[in-house]
Amino acid sequence: MRCPDCNKFVSFDEGNVDDVEADIDDESGTVTVSGRVVLPCAECGTELKELAVDETVETADDFPRTVLAAVNAECGAKLGSAVTQEWVDANCKVRYELDAEPEFHERVQATVRVAIKKKGKVIGHKEKPIKSSRYMKTYKGVSVTGTVTRTVHVSIPGHPGTEVVDEAPFESLAEDQASAFDEIAG
Ligand SMILES: [Zn+2]
Repeated sequence: MRCPDCNKFVSFDEGNVDDVEADIDDESGTVTVSGRVVLPCAECGTELKELAVDETVETADDFPRTVLAAVNAECGAKLGSAVTQEWVDANCKVRYELDAEPEFHERVQATVRVAIKKKGKVIGHKEKPIKSSRYMKTYKGVSVTGTVTRTVHVSIPGHPGTEVVDEAPFESLAEDQASAFDEIAG
């Protein structure tokens, strides 16, 4: 596109995600990724295009074991019997923490999805390589990868309290073709 500052047809420099934030609700484990991805002019750095990002990712079900299973595994013996969901609800406090950084993301789609036909009927699809780079599509955006830590604070009547900690990988991606980004008025 033409840059309003250097007045030349320019390409984009690497995208900037300084304005993107990933936050977690510590009680629900819901992550929001919001802000904007900015594409600067490769010649002068003027901000040319932006993509607004507003993603919501639920993480509470991503853990390898449920809160109930985790508390049972760690505290069942101490309590002398298997704990129930009611017991967990009454005696446990669950908190979530996110450790993840937004990073600029770029990928080239070098294949196209085509139908496989037999006697005029579509019987499936396959990915076919695109031969000319001018037909390849480039997607840019922001990826956030890291870890969600779930800490269950257990209060056991008559015993010292304890904490049961589990981790789950976190991944979120927002992307679009640069042509679909909004132009920033100069
Ligand atoms: Zn420029």
